[in-house]
Amino acid sequence: MSLITRTLQKACLLKQRGIASLAALPETHQMLQKTCRDFADAELKPVAAKHDREHLYPAEQILKMGELGLMGLMVPEELGGTGLDYVAYAIAMEEISRGCASAGVIMSVNNSLYLGPIMKWGTQEQKEKWVRPFTAGKKIGCFALSEPGNGSDAGAASTTATLEDNNFVINGTKQWITNGFESEAGIVFATTNKALKHKGISAIIIPKPVDGLDLGKNEDKLGIRASSTRALMFDNCKVPKENILGEPGLGFKIAMMSLDSGRIGIAGQALGIAQASLEVALDYSSKRLSFGNQLYKHQIIQSKLATMATRLDAARLLTWRAAWLKDNHQPFTKEAAMAKLAASEAATYLSHQCIQILGGMGYVSDMPAERHYRDARITEIYEGTSEIQKLVIAGNLIKEYGL
Ligand SMILES: Cc1cc2nc3c(=O)[nH]c(=O)nc-3n(C[C@H](O)[C@H](O)[C@H](O)COP(=O)(O)OP(=O)(O)OC[C@H]3O[C@@H](n4cnc5c(N)ncnc54)[C@H](O)[C@@H]3O)c2cc1C
Repeated sequence: MSLITRTLQKACLLKQRGIASLAALPETHQMLQKTCRDFADAELKPVAAKHDREHLYPAEQILKMGELGLMGLMVPEELGGTGLDYVAYAIAMEEISRGCASAGVIMSVNNSLYLGPIMKWGTQEQKEKWVRPFTAGKKIGCFALSEPGNGSDAGAASTTATLEDNNFVINGTKQWITNGFESEAGIVFATTNKALKHKGISAIIIPKPVDGLDLGKNEDKLGIRASSTRALMFDNCKVPKENILGEPGLGFKIAMMSLDSGRIGIAGQALGIAQASLEVALDYSSKRLSFGNQLYKHQIIQSKLATMATRLDAARLLTWRAAWLKDNHQPFTKEAAMAKLAASEAATYLSHQCIQILGGMGYVSDMPAERHYRDARITEIYEGTSEIQKLVIAGNLIKEYGL
């Protein structure tokens, strides 16, 4: 049983209700928030800059996050997880990413893109084999959808999986795969029937390492540099046919539905980066003197701080709404896209303004502002770019209004 589960069991569990403000969060979630915040302050913040600078995977920290129950947060306790909901996930993602955005994305891919689809579409045997060992931070998973030739247009996947005897034989290349190096399993999306286009894509669980799979170089990224990003190159890679997730041809649907949920996690990651930027700006503006006053006493600085706080809170409420809808089995695709769009753009805005408030000190790596700025940028790109979020939102609006 995870530390978080034990702590929460001591708490009086309030009935979950709609969320309007921080004060309305159930006690369970408030405790989770505090646990994650304390952990981020003690264990992530002090090493985040070094890990970023040296491209170091935060192995020790991920293990501790596993002990806390954060690596299988929504997996039921019977399978080794913590059994919490998506609101809890959004909160935990924010707090962890406030300390280290790389730890945030490692956690997010494992939870919502790897464990999530296996929990939803996997057989009991698959859950025992591919979920249980991946909930404690000792083993992590990856999600391989994007390819060199297509990212946003994921339905155009050209990686193939051909059934030969009792195996799928996989050929092709997946690009930009988070946890590509450290993961010990992954979900790969490959075409099992080319004629059916995106309806011929299947989701297949692969073990790692495995014969016939080579890794590309670790990408030298602008931000989230402590997480690995690699290509997965398949050359006649054989995987048992029972590793298919759901039915043949269900892969595109699995990918899209997993990304809907994943976007709540990335919105949480963006909120954490934005919150960290606001805190740096507030702290610095209370210490730095200019024209005989602390910076925060200048009204132009107050205006910046006010806009930062407002955009952050607006994005947080959108994120919690999307998570709440998902937890309550209501449609949430549009709301998750809105949350990700707003939170990622808020992260970029707040980290940009944070640098401005710090002036020269914002531009150098002695302060965390420039790292937050670099980390923020990816949240507008992965799990669907901002442009794709707008297509999703508009597509849903058009349907709702019967246009
Ligand atoms: C650090 C990092 C980690 C990642 N991790 C993973 C991972 O773990 N697994 C995984 O599968 N993928 C991962 N990705 C891939 C990521 O999801 C894609 O980069 C993203 O979906 C965009 O695809 P693309 O890079 O091919 O850009 P493209 O699809 O080529 O898009 C280029 C530009 O064109 C715009 N565009 C494209 N189509 C349209 C349209 N119809 N209308 C308007 N504008 C459009 C896009 O918004 C973008 O601005 C990762 C990427 C990075 C950089």
